[in-house]
Amino acid sequence: MDDDKGSYIIRTKGLSKIYMDGVEVRALDNVDLDIEKGEFLSIIGPSGSGKSTLLHMIGILDTPSSGSITIDGKVVTDMSEKERSKVRNEVLGFIFQYHHLMPDFNALENVMMPLLIGGMKSKEAKKIASSLLEEVGLGDRMGHLPNQLSGGQAQRVAIARALANNPGIVIGDEPTGNLDTRSSDMIYDLLRKLNRDRGQTFILVTHDEDMAKKTDRIIRLVDGRISEDYSISHRDTPKVS
Ligand code: ADP
Ligand code: MG
Repeated sequence: MDDDKGSYIIRTKGLSKIYMDGVEVRALDNVDLDIEKGEFLSIIGPSGSGKSTLLHMIGILDTPSSGSITIDGKVVTDMSEKERSKVRNEVLGFIFQYHHLMPDFNALENVMMPLLIGGMKSKEAKKIASSLLEEVGLGDRMGHLPNQLSGGQAQRVAIARALANNPGIVIGDEPTGNLDTRSSDMIYDLLRKLNRDRGQTFILVTHDEDMAKKTDRIIRLVDGRISEDYSISHRDTPKVS
């Protein structure tokens, strides 16, 4: 059990992941990391440095070779798969590089889907999904199919879908990796706004240093280890309304 409850929402201790791929690949090497509730942070580092691996561990999408992960006061590395998927569904929201929207369903239906799967009545799911689409600036695109949306708009639908279950933690693996600079800027400004308005914790993997600088804290990985961990002051930058 975990009695050591600080203000952190995520804590990793000695987290390591070794892949056996002919040779041994140490994708994560003894990572200790504390993330506080409501942080807006990015994980950067060269390709192959372990960013996705770390994010997959935090997202309970994969298990470490050794070490522990505590999420929202629970040591998830001690849990059964059933308990792990419960935490995954209730606490975590995911945004990936490719939006993975269902092509035959419109924006509204795509955002409703996780709610319907969770057992919510269609009418209530519709209400929540439309208000989320309003929040991400797509109130006038709800009936559009994914291929009738721009890349940036489709990614905003994916963000609304990630928020449908109102997760405490939102993780994104290269959420703007597929977008031009202008759309990327808009997505980061939107994520920042959601972080401010909703107090949710955002953890974003990116290889784009300019995007990372928009967050409040940068963690740099090199060869599976944290090489830098620092905060950024945004006092001089205008607040997003
Ligand atoms: P990043 O996201 O920073 O590019 P990854 O976390 O994807 O890095 O990968 C870290 C290291 O682990 C790399 O050397 C990669 O080749 C290796 N790796 C990742 N996933 C696997 C896997 N499923 N099997 C074997 N090696 C893997
Ligand atoms: Mg990656």
